[in-house]
Amino acid sequence: MEKQKAIVVFSGGQDSTTCLFWALQKFDEVIAVTFDYGQRHKKEIECAKAIAKELDVEHHVLDMGLLNQLAPNALTREDIKVEAGHNGELPSTFVEGRNMLFLTFAGVMAKVKGAKHIVTGVCETDFSGYPDCRDIFIKSLNVTMNLAMDYGFVIHTPLMWIDKAATWQMADELGKLDYIRNKTLTCYEGVIGDGCGVCPACHLRRRGLERYLQSKEECKATN
Ligand code: ZN
Repeated sequence: MEKQKAIVVFSGGQDSTTCLFWALQKFDEVIAVTFDYGQRHKKEIECAKAIAKELDVEHHVLDMGLLNQLAPNALTREDIKVEAGHNGELPSTFVEGRNMLFLTFAGVMAKVKGAKHIVTGVCETDFSGYPDCRDIFIKSLNVTMNLAMDYGFVIHTPLMWIDKAATWQMADELGKLDYIRNKTLTCYEGVIGDGCGVCPACHLRRRGLERYLQSKEECKATN
């Protein structure tokens, strides 16, 4: 049988690292790709590099500085504050079209590398309403990419319908909860592991972890 090769869109955060472990279990060969779009914290890229190296995964960092030029946002600009969205507005960390571009570039790399599978940690459940994280968009882009490159891509979104607590559960089931808890970077302030504890990303991550650990305790207690 043909070797099943996958490209994982990998930022070094909780979600994409969970996806990386998921892919390592599912596919014969895995390549990770990280996009450098001038994130405030170069640490994010360093963190991704360190994880890929430790897991012995082929890793590429692609320069996407263009994105910052096009769409200034709180993730790349010191002078824009990280703020949650209010009244249905998107948060200041939103980067217009980011996910679409990342997946498209990942697709180009996948075809060059002979990989059919693309794995991304996007999710409709916990997210702040980013339109290019929605399932319907991913399905549409999948079709578009297949037509654009005349190739049978399959985009996988293992986290699409689960919340942060269930993402921790998935990490635990993969046997990687502690690894992901201690070595990934989700925090907007660039603090690895449990993070600064204050920023919106830390809140979401910690609330999910607490909920998961609590339900695990309750399960134990009833069994
Ligand atoms: Zn934080």
